[in-house]
Amino acid sequence: MRSPSITIARVLALGLALAALFAALAPARSLADVDPAGCTDGIAYDPAIPTYQDVVGRPLGDGPTGNTGRDLTADIYKYFRAVKDAAAGSSRVRMLEKSYGKSVLGQDLAFWVLSTPENIDNLDAGRKDAAFWAGVRDGSVSEAAGLAAVRSRPAPAWITSTPHGAEPAAGEAIARNLYELAARTDCWNAMRLRDMDFFLLPVRNPDGRDAIQRTSAWTFDHNRDFGTQNQIENGAFLPVFKQYPGVFYIDAHQTSNGYFFPPNEDPVHHEISDFTVDYIGEMIGPALRQAFDDQSIDYFNFQTYDLFVPEYGDTVPSLLSGAAGMTFEKGTSELYGKQVYEHYLAINATIDVTAQNKPSILHDWVEQWAEAVRQGEQCKLEPNELVSPLTEPLKQQPSYDVCGYFFRPDRHEGDTASLLKHMQAQGVHVYKFDTNVATAGVREFGTGTSGVQTLPQGTLYVPLDQPLKHWIQAVFGEDPFEPIEFFYDVATWSYPMHRGLAGSGFLTSQLPPGTQMTEIEAPALGGVAAGAKPVLAFETDSMQALAMVYELLDKGVKVARARDAFTSGGRSFSTGSALVDASTLGGVDMAALAAKRQTPVTGLDGYPVDHFPMVKPKIGVYSQGTSVPNSPLEKNAGAPSPGHCATQVAGVAGAADYCVSLFTLTDKIGLPGYTVQSAPEGMLSTVTATELAAGDLVSKNYTALLNPNQSIPAGAGATALQAFVNGGGTYVGTLANGTTAARNAGITMLNTVAATTFSPAPNTMSTPGSIFTATFNTSSPVAWGFDDGGFIYRDATGNPIYDPNTMNGNGTTIPQAAAAVSYANPLKSLGFSRNATGPGKLDGRPHVVDQPFGAGRAVMFGHNPFYRSWKEGDERVVLNALLYPTTVAQPPATKLVAAKKAAPLGEPLAKAELPKVASRPVRSTRATDRDVRIQVARKHSVKLKRAVKAAKLPRKARKQVRYVRSAKTVTLVVKGARRANNDHARGEWVRKIVGRLDKRGVKVLFAQL
Ligand SMILES: [Zn+2]
Repeated sequence: MRSPSITIARVLALGLALAALFAALAPARSLADVDPAGCTDGIAYDPAIPTYQDVVGRPLGDGPTGNTGRDLTADIYKYFRAVKDAAAGSSRVRMLEKSYGKSVLGQDLAFWVLSTPENIDNLDAGRKDAAFWAGVRDGSVSEAAGLAAVRSRPAPAWITSTPHGAEPAAGEAIARNLYELAARTDCWNAMRLRDMDFFLLPVRNPDGRDAIQRTSAWTFDHNRDFGTQNQIENGAFLPVFKQYPGVFYIDAHQTSNGYFFPPNEDPVHHEISDFTVDYIGEMIGPALRQAFDDQSIDYFNFQTYDLFVPEYGDTVPSLLSGAAGMTFEKGTSELYGKQVYEHYLAINATIDVTAQNKPSILHDWVEQWAEAVRQGEQCKLEPNELVSPLTEPLKQQPSYDVCGYFFRPDRHEGDTASLLKHMQAQGVHVYKFDTNVATAGVREFGTGTSGVQTLPQGTLYVPLDQPLKHWIQAVFGEDPFEPIEFFYDVATWSYPMHRGLAGSGFLTSQLPPGTQMTEIEAPALGGVAAGAKPVLAFETDSMQALAMVYELLDKGVKVARARDAFTSGGRSFSTGSALVDASTLGGVDMAALAAKRQTPVTGLDGYPVDHFPMVKPKIGVYSQGTSVPNSPLEKNAGAPSPGHCATQVAGVAGAADYCVSLFTLTDKIGLPGYTVQSAPEGMLSTVTATELAAGDLVSKNYTALLNPNQSIPAGAGATALQAFVNGGGTYVGTLANGTTAARNAGITMLNTVAATTFSPAPNTMSTPGSIFTATFNTSSPVAWGFDDGGFIYRDATGNPIYDPNTMNGNGTTIPQAAAAVSYANPLKSLGFSRNATGPGKLDGRPHVVDQPFGAGRAVMFGHNPFYRSWKEGDERVVLNALLYPTTVAQPPATKLVAAKKAAPLGEPLAKAELPKVASRPVRSTRATDRDVRIQVARKHSVKLKRAVKAAKLPRKARKQVRYVRSAKTVTLVVKGARRANNDHARGEWVRKIVGRLDKRGVKVLFAQL
């Protein structure tokens, strides 16, 4: 095929003054069969379309190296709106603005569609091009109809800036592409407009862009949230693909040096379609290389950036939109205008090659949806393939068939419903069995075996024989079958397992012929049955149901929780089920709450089992800062960006862990009653280090303190914590700091062991986001509702590993602790982990520990339950812990005994008996996931060392370089070099090392990049 031939004498660094330069980049004349009417032979610019300078008053891309030259969101929007207004009077070009919501800090979220007036008129009306392509993606438009339209309808495509706010140059670059597309009158450009609809999104994260911060205002990395969409900037945007899919999706980031465009490095997720891989690898990649070669601009590809985890701005659009989803990366080391220019160039080249090959691209884009359906009909997963010529061999292939995912209608309803609703928002079809279905091939999550079972009527079913098959398998799959052992980010992420949906699973063989099922609009699992009874009962086996307990308590309703499982009215109730005193409902609309939380409620005649009356909790979320962190809930006017968690006034540390947990509790879970410092306190508020030390927990009647991995050193704070727990308070601490704080306070003897004790170097244990089978001890209220079991997700290799020998207490004041959650024994790892399972390793170890002390207790987590807000299963454990009963169980009865009359669970220790408060940090686990690791055969030691030398590591990293040898291998270890916020810069030298090894024919055996 022909490429537009591009010659250029020189490369200039700055903006709009370069109109002549860009003119030179366009092909001399249109390659279209028939030129669009009225276009010009040569390049000319319509003076009616304003330049950036005309509108904003500054040259486009004016600025020094780095990112401080970026224009504010308001200026970018101003320019897009000005071009839209100018185009309203044009016969060549037209623009639409589409608003899709507000950012966390209240800025507009918007994209613009650009094409010819005819195409824009026919986008949502007339021919309804958008609905047509959406129908192809959805399966409602046939493959034949789709194929018949590849010449007559324009191809949609997405050009977006990264959500990383500190990587801003694409905002200005897309403004440049906009100008060129809108103003140029030549025939080639007219053909581009005639044949394509451009979806332009110049600012994906306005809060981060304006603050020059990578993250959302809540400190989430949007580029790890594209799939789960917990941040509103993603949650409001991604469902747009259901309406407006595109053939490519550019996500334009920034790194330190040079320019990256795909093809990517392995691994590529096996469900990424062949269309995506081929379009990127065989069409866009070569076109971009040509465009950059022609101007002697340095670039790299096939290195560093994989296409594996469905969480990024490339993988997710690839799977959800069937697009060529691509990460572009421009270094910030050059003048801002050069950064802008290179993004412009890459985007322009992608447009050109697509416009030139539009019918064949659309043809293959259409075919992939029907192809996915056919694969689903045969229950076939796509095989792994290696895309980079530099990698081999494949580690494994998908090892079993999957026909669809089933979700039991009588378990975890609240979280099942919200997961399926989320999938439906992306365009996934969900069905309900009309009858009981006895079928073979039923495989519950985590069990590893398939068998014959009867799935009850009402079972929700997501078959794979639908167009979004690749997406469903990629996010629901128990095991992503990683093709090689390279980890750029996490190793596993199964949505149903993160939601703790034990008992549900997938079918490894076809349903019996004639199985009747009906597609559902939205799951409706909530409601009230037999509501005219004195007690209203519901299970608390979902995060949503537990949140409902908090909502009822907040409204003053009396609620007890069942100690034991029971059966009533034909339904089995699991441990911890909520028993609501209907006479105390007052104005509370139970049916509305049950519907909102998708939780079924059943009327009972009394309290059938031993039960604990609950008191309304008052929960402090601990911040180790001396003042309340700047957050969207408590904006600090003195912070660099008020409301943005990543910008704190001096002295506030640990804000990210604090903000993520606060977001999870208030925004995602929807707990009511968060109160700011100045207001009368409700159910939730922040407790600072100063307030803790001042004894606020006791004097202000808190019931629980949540410590999201913050430091509480021995001193007044730890002493106050001890007094609080001794008096009946509940302490919930996560990760190493959470456990150390309890040890410092003399509440527990619990300690950790280093992974090296059971997995010494060089075969060091690795669990970079690995999921394990688990045992839940439902005699602890912390594990109530987990009667079906659940899973443990080690979000990082450095997560604490508890030593069971440290749970016996001190024989006097510190009693024995219990494991509420343990690793299963024997233990199964679902998907990747390394040297973590087996006798003496993680198998059977405690993981969430329930430690009584005085009249209260401490609950300690060996992982981060708030990790990326990904895990409803863990959120349930936290909500259980924060609501730990404080009074002894009442026997079965017809009436609820008031909580305050019941005897307390334990007695406080006398002051003289209290253990000493002292500094007792847990044993260091050594966060090996912070290390860059590259392992090769021992015979390649010299080549590895040379590659490291040639890569010229930054001084700080160079000092941390170690080589660990075994009989057969040598491993480069760069200690502490791997942090989320340096992934682009780190990529530079990591890429050089791996690239040189590749060139020298050295196979990398394992890498953590
Ligand atoms: Zn980025």
